[in-house]
Amino acid sequence: MSLMSLTAVELGKRIQNKEVTAVDATREALAAIAAREEAVHSFVTVDAEGALARAEQIQKRIDVGELTSPLAGVPVAIKDNMCTKGMKTTCSSKILYNFMPGFTAEAVLNLEKAGAVILGKTNMDEFAMGSTTETSAFGVTKNPWNTGHVPGGSSGGSCAAVAAEECSYALGSDTGGSIRQPSSFCGVTGIKPTYGTVSRYGLIAYGSSLDQIGPVAKDVTDCATILEMISSHDSKDSTSVKREDTTFTEALVDDVKGMKIGIPRDYFGQGLNAEVKEAVLAAAKELEKKGAIVEEFDLGLVEYAIPAYYVIACAEASSNLARFDGVKYGYRTQEYDGLHQMYKKSRSEGFGAEVKRRIMLGSFVLSSGYYDAYYLKALRVKALIKKAFDEAFAKYDVILGPAAPTTAPKLGASLSDPIQMYLGDIYTISVNLAGLPGISLPCGMDSHGLPIGLQLIGDCFEEKNIIRAAYAFEQTRSYVHSPVAAQNEKGVVS
Ligand code: GLN
Repeated sequence: MSLMSLTAVELGKRIQNKEVTAVDATREALAAIAAREEAVHSFVTVDAEGALARAEQIQKRIDVGELTSPLAGVPVAIKDNMCTKGMKTTCSSKILYNFMPGFTAEAVLNLEKAGAVILGKTNMDEFAMGSTTETSAFGVTKNPWNTGHVPGGSSGGSCAAVAAEECSYALGSDTGGSIRQPSSFCGVTGIKPTYGTVSRYGLIAYGSSLDQIGPVAKDVTDCATILEMISSHDSKDSTSVKREDTTFTEALVDDVKGMKIGIPRDYFGQGLNAEVKEAVLAAAKELEKKGAIVEEFDLGLVEYAIPAYYVIACAEASSNLARFDGVKYGYRTQEYDGLHQMYKKSRSEGFGAEVKRRIMLGSFVLSSGYYDAYYLKALRVKALIKKAFDEAFAKYDVILGPAAPTTAPKLGASLSDPIQMYLGDIYTISVNLAGLPGISLPCGMDSHGLPIGLQLIGDCFEEKNIIRAAYAFEQTRSYVHSPVAAQNEKGVVS
């Protein structure tokens, strides 16, 4: 059995117990990458040499008792929108094809301090805009469960890498569902923390008021452990929150007695695939059997979340992406006549179609004459959505629903119809608009052998509630963490 089949925490324990070394683990990860990348393409950059050198150094520090963190020596993959000093960071965009950051994102730095071995950078939708990882300028990532299907997005590379056992765990980012939805499609577990919990310093911004970094891993224990390590107050991020309750692993207890769980009726109407609905409701039953009090309720405003999100996210994106002008870094057009043409050609050639669509939409809703009608109105809707959640959390500890309305679609199916793709974000985006924490974990398979994801949403700063509920649910199932472990008959990633 490959060391990559172990959870990150199990592997970390074996390394601490001197049963295996960080170098052994890194070699196995690199071998898995070499074997599966052609089929899956989770990575934009693999730094094999650097990773082995880091593993050696880390092992020396483990040997002398200097590194004792539970994940010291464990190999990790990082989404390619987090800056890594001396390692290319592209956001899967041509405009940053050669960008070499001079510093490392705070969340990644926290992992490095704890002795993580960074293998490389994972593929994503360009600038995290998308739900399938098909808008990447560097090729499409495939779902390891069935390579004819998408892995979800935008953190599709991170989730596919974990599912294909090319790394022990990964970091993703979530602006409107980009950790939870691909986790659901790839049958792995991912957490989007409360806004402000993980520093955004060094995360290349998409929608700054919505973006959060979070863990993607094999199980809830791994996710809680990783989240504990990456959460920190950071004065370099003005929206970073000083929290004293980030000992998330304390919530890994199999006890939901008396926990109040609300199921929004509005999440189970039209558009939800029948098999997803059945699996998610069966999960609620399991939690009820364990003593949770499960109740249906009306959340309201669900139909306004998508339009409000796309107005706000695009508005922020149009402003954030103004800095990519061919002057300071990244792609610059070859031939131009004057500064303005240089800007124009560099941006026209450097950005892909989805990014351009969003820059145009964002500039439009911010333009004078339309600002009040679209942007301000969207902000008002955002406030109402937050209020609806506040009312729900006055009654419930956790809100339970699907992570996505379907399982992973076929490759190419969403690209031709962006509106349809946007509608797929229905269950995840309101969580970002309200700044709440959410977790997605596997709760079954559909009849095509594709994973189904359960989403648990908590009130702000109440990650422990969703971790406890997720952990308790996880105990009710025997897990097949990945298609490799399942020995998928199709042999997709063998
Ligand atoms: N699919 C959503 C979008 O395209 C969410 C992306 C994300 O969370 N980064 O905006």
